Amino acid sequence: MYEDFTAHLSHPVFKVIKKYLEDKDYSAFVIGGFVRDLLRENKSKDIDIVVDGDALEFAKDIAQILRVKKVSVFKNFGTAHFRYKDIDVEFVTARKESYSKDSRKPMVKQGTLKDDQYRRDFTINALAIDLGPHSFGTLVDPFNGVSDIKIGLIKTPLDPSETFSDDPLRMLRAIRFASQLDFKIDISCLKSIKEQSERIKIISRERITDEINKILLSPEPSRGFKLLKSTGLLQYIFPELLELSGIETINGKSHKDNFLHTLQVVDNISKSSDHLWLRWAALLHDIAKPATKRFDKKVGWTFHGHEELGSKMVPRIFKSHRLPLDAKMKYVQKLVRLHLRPIALVKGSVTDTAIRRLLNEAGEDIDDLMLLCNADITSKNEFKVKRYQENFKMVSEKLQLVEEKDKIRNFQPPVNGEEIMKTFDIGPCYEVGVIKGKIKEAILEGEISNSYQEAKELMLNIGKELGLKEKETHN
Ligand code: ATP
Ligand code: MG
Repeated sequence: MYEDFTAHLSHPVFKVIKKYLEDKDYSAFVIGGFVRDLLRENKSKDIDIVVDGDALEFAKDIAQILRVKKVSVFKNFGTAHFRYKDIDVEFVTARKESYSKDSRKPMVKQGTLKDDQYRRDFTINALAIDLGPHSFGTLVDPFNGVSDIKIGLIKTPLDPSETFSDDPLRMLRAIRFASQLDFKIDISCLKSIKEQSERIKIISRERITDEINKILLSPEPSRGFKLLKSTGLLQYIFPELLELSGIETINGKSHKDNFLHTLQVVDNISKSSDHLWLRWAALLHDIAKPATKRFDKKVGWTFHGHEELGSKMVPRIFKSHRLPLDAKMKYVQKLVRLHLRPIALVKGSVTDTAIRRLLNEAGEDIDDLMLLCNADITSKNEFKVKRYQENFKMVSEKLQLVEEKDKIRNFQPPVNGEEIMKTFDIGPCYEVGVIKGKIKEAILEGEISNSYQEAKELMLNIGKELGLKEKETHN
């Protein structure tokens, strides 16, 4: 199928390439994600150019014309890259590839555009548009990628078993695109992924995590995770999630399928936030349920302490996925640990003290915690969900009122250690800690207000009780 896409190629990079090719006897095409997204009427954040000549020289020349100073060249791969304004532009020499069994590193030879399109992962990613001066804007679609975009289908240009065996990462990419674009995966592709899911083991953890993150950031991440499970990939890339799956029944009492529940929570949170780490917190909030599951004859199934244990499991999971072990991990740990607290308020009586304690523990992350907790309300019974959500709203409102009044969220004790030491003329010691702790407790308990005056008064009283003498001041 050939169509004219000239009108969509107004970006300076394309214009410069067209002009440059006027006195050259080779050709260049924009290929892959850019063309796919163009046809879906979406904007792409990067441009991939395939050249049937030396892409490295080509990239350097184009960069010079565009006055781009820094070009990164990867000689071994025959690729070059530069950034022009806010767009990444990648150049690759058109190539033919063949693979050996135990590696995803191909033997690469120079080839034609057609060869290059054959080595692409999916028909929707193999579309190219000519950038040469004589056929500028012509779409080259050898595998009916356009029609697959229209019907929403992920399909390989070659026999899927070969495509996936050559590079098992493509199995994950298939699922990631299905989840991102809400596309179906072709039946023979799905079958082939099921058959060779185990080969995902040769892929590096970093590449796998990139794909998991993209699935998590898709509009309805459950689509991707359900596919990961049904294809058998989940057991190799995220066994802890698979453990959540299933229902057990004893004496006619069943617990819910925690895998499906978790996915529902992730979908719920995705409606209200694009924040990757909040979505990770949703994915991991019940991760310790299998390890804490007990059956009690009176109360049925319990998962006591799953929030504490889950929070402790987070570092190991982050490490195994090569995720950052920094403040982002601490944030996820915190949300997992606290995820039951707001709902406990909904169920119990909502005292100001309980709210102040929660505000103090959640700090800056209180809004995210409330989002997570609201997303965690799932049940087949719509009436129940509605009632819970109404109660939940009440807690949210109360939280706001208490925060406005007491300012606990970014709690800074109104009397600090420095002042305590000065007042009693003492150095850093045990008593300073005691006084500080008692002031904080009194504020959280509502015995005094969060004000300097009342805190100072309390400090003097506690000091007296502890046998400390106030330093005399001479005016
Ligand atoms: P996005 O950047 O939005 O995630 P994309 O399609 O641009 O999507 P990239 O990973 O940037 O994906 O790859 C660019 C192009 O390179 C793809 O469209 C595809 O044609 C090709 N490609 C990338 N990875 C593979 C792979 N593992 N096997 C075959 N072709 C691939
Ligand atoms: Mg891309």
